[in-house]
Amino acid sequence: MTTYAEQYQDIRDGIRSLCAQFPDEYFRKVDEQRGYPDEFVKALTDAGWMAALIPQEYGGSGLSLAEASVIMEEINRCGGNSGACHGQMYNMGTLVRHGSEEQKRLYLPKIASGELRLQSMGVTEPTTGTDTTRIKTTAVKKGDKYVINGQKVWISRVQHSDLMILLARTTPLNQVTKKSEGMSIFIVDLHDAVKNGMTIRPILNMVNHETNELFFDNLEIPAENLIGEEGKGFKYILDGLNAERVLIAAECIGDGYWFIDRVTKYVKDRIVFGRPIGQNQGVQFPIAKAYINVEAASLMRYEACRLFDAHLPCGAQANMSKLLAADASWEAANACLQFHGGFGFACEYDVERKFRETRLYQVAPISTNLILSYVAEHVLGLPRSF
Ligand SMILES: Cc1cc2nc3c(=O)[nH]c(=O)nc-3n(C[C@H](O)[C@H](O)[C@H](O)COP(=O)(O)OP(=O)(O)OC[C@H]3O[C@@H](n4cnc5c(N)ncnc54)[C@H](O)[C@@H]3O)c2cc1C
Repeated sequence: MTTYAEQYQDIRDGIRSLCAQFPDEYFRKVDEQRGYPDEFVKALTDAGWMAALIPQEYGGSGLSLAEASVIMEEINRCGGNSGACHGQMYNMGTLVRHGSEEQKRLYLPKIASGELRLQSMGVTEPTTGTDTTRIKTTAVKKGDKYVINGQKVWISRVQHSDLMILLARTTPLNQVTKKSEGMSIFIVDLHDAVKNGMTIRPILNMVNHETNELFFDNLEIPAENLIGEEGKGFKYILDGLNAERVLIAAECIGDGYWFIDRVTKYVKDRIVFGRPIGQNQGVQFPIAKAYINVEAASLMRYEACRLFDAHLPCGAQANMSKLLAADASWEAANACLQFHGGFGFACEYDVERKFRETRLYQVAPISTNLILSYVAEHVLGLPRSF
């Protein structure tokens, strides 16, 4: 019998050998230059890894969520940052599950081959934040077009994508019975959009994550770009979130192992007071604790995947795996930085870069507080707080 860690060895080996071509120096340089890892993302796409969740009939490899999660985990464990390309993995789920046959045939084979990139999803808005049902961006149908007006914030990878999934209100909030109704999702051709009413303003941020403010001023998009039924967009977005939560959890798990691998090696080698610092229990225990928590988060990730892949409800497990993994990677990050002493702050050790990168997952794509609130309300049956 194999342990979870020994499973999916082919995938682990494949990603590790690809990542070996992109050593720490590569990611460090991209970070220093605030660049984008074009060559790395191209190599992943060319090798077919980014099409893992696209069904085989549309040119993808039709892997399970568990397998896809191992891809993300290994990228981060090897020192990379899946944040540059993870949208390509989970955005497709929305199209696969809710797109028309025509849309799937039009887009999915080209996404699988790398001819088209679907890296972006536009949900968050500056004035409404986590309270998504109050979004103010509107899509008004005029003949065979929808006219989009409004604003989005923190929309990632727009400058490295050809398509974006956009959430907008098609029925005003005061005209729907449930606040989650009346929103719709659309496929936006980003190259057309920048010429016709969409403005991109990049946001310089802590983690070299390509993310932007978007402004829509009478942007017209073809009515056939509506995904699924008008008014059900929020439900479709929520549907895709379980996969997103699990894939992000897997990235955090990969980060957690990276921090533990690095700090374990460092504290064995670093001699202070005439002995390795790793001989002190004050140093050992925080590392051991972080390792235990990463392992536990990983088990919850596999449980969420097992349920998801069996088409069973997995909202609780997907959310819990994201929280456990984000907390565990952050705990491991702190132990790693702490026991590197001053060297933890030196860019050439990569710890400070990974530290910044993994911190993001306490806030995005969902803050830990919102997961606690989900579990309190939907799992424990406590009264709604908002
Ligand atoms: C680098 C980056 C990339 C991103 N990429 C994308 C993207 O591609 N597409 C996209 O649509 N969005 C994206 N986001 C947005 C991200 O999903 C949001 O930042 C996140 O959901 C939190 O929303 P907010 O920033 O508006 O925070 P707010 O809603 O203003 O909340 C701020 C904080 O308050 C707390 N809080 C809020 N409400 C409650 C409550 N009811 N109970 C308890 N605590 C609460 C939470 O701790 C939260 O972190 C990205 C964000 C970042 C930073």
